[in-house]
Amino acid sequence: MIKLHDLYFKPFISEQEVDDIVQKMVDEIAADLGDVVPVFVGILNGSFMFTSDFVKKYPKPCEVTFIKLASYEGLKSTEDIQRLIGITQDLTGRTVVILEDIIDSGKTLAEVYRIFKNEKVKELKIATLFFKPEAYKKDFKLHYVGREIPNKFIVGYGLDYDGLGREYPEVFQLKTTQHMTNIVLFGPPGAGKGTQANFLKEKYNLVHISTGDVFRFNIKNETALGMLAKSYMDKGDLVPDKVTIDMLNAEVEKNADANGFIFDGFPRTNAQAESLDNLMNSKDSQINAMIALEVDDEILVQRLLERGKTSGRPDDADEGIIRNRIKEYYDKTAILKDYYSAQGKYYGVDGVGSIEEITQRLSGVIDTL
Ligand code: AMP
Repeated sequence: MIKLHDLYFKPFISEQEVDDIVQKMVDEIAADLGDVVPVFVGILNGSFMFTSDFVKKYPKPCEVTFIKLASYEGLKSTEDIQRLIGITQDLTGRTVVILEDIIDSGKTLAEVYRIFKNEKVKELKIATLFFKPEAYKKDFKLHYVGREIPNKFIVGYGLDYDGLGREYPEVFQLKTTQHMTNIVLFGPPGAGKGTQANFLKEKYNLVHISTGDVFRFNIKNETALGMLAKSYMDKGDLVPDKVTIDMLNAEVEKNADANGFIFDGFPRTNAQAESLDNLMNSKDSQINAMIALEVDDEILVQRLLERGKTSGRPDDADEGIIRNRIKEYYDKTAILKDYYSAQGKYYGVDGVGSIEEITQRLSGVIDTL
């Protein structure tokens, strides 16, 4: 992610993908033009990088020049675009290909056509690296389109946000919602994640998703998902990633308007952590912190056996199964500490004490985020 002025932008089209798009356009245009020596006209400032990469790849002789257009500052009409550097050579009888970085409303393109109206070119073709069909309000033909993109603000590869961002070799997209707070509540079985999540969700107005609870709800209602999960849960094993990830995604989608989420019992594997990052990214959001409740194993076993007397959970009733759940945690889940530490998002909290004390410790972390 990058920050330009006051806004955040996330990766959208990689350097390699941009390169592939440019190459595809070069191949297509070179094949169409054959042995004609074209004049490529880049529209400054945005297309300087595209034009440069394009002509470097162009396999045959060509000429390259630029025109520079700019919006009139301080005038009411948005239709006013002024030509700052116009055509500086005679293009009579030439095949001209306009190279644009992006076409959205088509305002600039209209001006280009106006400029070329009096030039006696043989042929005028329009090639644009990016095109926003949803924003396009004109009906000029676009002869070559590198890639259609949604109507979102982009920067990089020549494109700027108020002067910044042109130098990046890849393309970024504006992040639109940045207000969510998303927390992974972490720790071994019996650490108190569920109890604490219930307090925290009220205090911070977050949606609490416990994958264990969702599985138990499905088991109770005898759904296909429940039947599948039960066989794993009864032994204290993890449910397969694919099943769990699909279920979690569906739970998040059900709460699309949430201020944020407390994830409890998820992620439990690296694959789950990666899929959660992708999901958050698709919502222009991210995981802000993993907060881990740290509790000794023997205390966990005692707590779970105690809970088993009233919880009705088969996986709380048997010490062997409890120990297997704790083992699963250390074998498969504890490594996620490294995953979030590497991103500077791991916070360990002492999970032994009264419920209120622990809530306070957790709040202390959340308030600093
Ligand atoms: P919990 O209520 O979090 O202790 O989860 C109870 C059981 O549900 C676990 O022992 C697993 O069998 C299953 N489960 C819950 N969350 C996950 C997950 N993220 N990945 C795989 N299995 C899970």
